Amino acid sequence: MKKMTIYIVCFLLAFVILPAAILITATVSGIGKKYEIVSNAQTDVGSIMIGDGGIDAALMNAGFNGGNSEMKIKVYFSDEDVTREMTLEEYVAGVILGEMRLTFDIEAIKAQAVASRTYTFYKILNGGADDLRHKDGAVICDDYSHCQAWENPEIIFESYPTEQAKEYYNKIMTAVESTKGLVMSYNGEIVQAYYFSNGGGYTESVEDVWDSEAIDYLQSVPSVGDITSESYCTIETFTPEEFKQCLKELKPELAIDSEDIYESIENCEKSESGRVKNMTIGGVVFKGTELRTCLGLRSTNFILRQIDSGEIIAVVFGSGHGVGMSQWGAGVMAASGSTYEEILLHYYQGVEIVNCSSFSLPS
Ligand SMILES: [Zn+2]
Repeated sequence: MKKMTIYIVCFLLAFVILPAAILITATVSGIGKKYEIVSNAQTDVGSIMIGDGGIDAALMNAGFNGGNSEMKIKVYFSDEDVTREMTLEEYVAGVILGEMRLTFDIEAIKAQAVASRTYTFYKILNGGADDLRHKDGAVICDDYSHCQAWENPEIIFESYPTEQAKEYYNKIMTAVESTKGLVMSYNGEIVQAYYFSNGGGYTESVEDVWDSEAIDYLQSVPSVGDITSESYCTIETFTPEEFKQCLKELKPELAIDSEDIYESIENCEKSESGRVKNMTIGGVVFKGTELRTCLGLRSTNFILRQIDSGEIIAVVFGSGHGVGMSQWGAGVMAASGSTYEEILLHYYQGVEIVNCSSFSLPS
């Protein structure tokens, strides 16, 4: 009851004395919700008061004060099959929740904010709206396997105890606000800011993963913090028959007895970072990315061995495609005192951090 009184007093103070703050508050709390309820101040103010008064005053003052001047983008929500409009910064906040560990230090979250904003801007400038996987003019979607995952930050308050929820929510908002509008640029071009979970010790050069030309800022770099993650090393086990069937689903031409399949492995070509580029099995050439998919491995950084039982094991290092920023590595760098700029310049070497206003939007 006492808490409720405090809420009411806070509400009245905010409503009567600080109308300007209400505007900021409403906009902050509108992350993810504003696109549905643009002007429902009561809803917005109510949601900002979750806990013992809500978001820090400093955060509110930093606020989403762009208002209508905020750049808006259309986002396609694939599961719901609906396109919604929201500001770029609202979108970035939701991507942080969808893609990043909030236990990391704030500088890692800021690095994620800039990477996600840059990734989005690349889509905006490079035909995201024409992508057939997006609908109704959306420049990007919430399918993590295609673009970037997105979660409404307000669900934090339903998922965590209040104090922890406030900490995480504030962390997201602080990361977004303190990097507002910032993106990465290389030679005047927007950067392709790929990122992934854990590099297993090194990131990967883009040309060794996808059919791509080499890109200066997407080359393999050490990612020493990766080794501290629980996902650094995983082991998958297959019977020879299971192993063969996984591969045959992708390449039906594979014709070798399962008992001979391990011995048939040859010509394993690895990239500079140690990931499998190509491997010949039973006379059929598989790309490392293909093996990762059909064997369900976390990354292409793996070795295969046959153990005494006859089973084939895949020892896998890291998690994700390996191109760009290792999120775990970023977290460790932040914990070691690196700033978000240092993190980004390590994983995307040679880039500049600029305001997105330096890029002309497509008409
Ligand atoms: Zn997409």
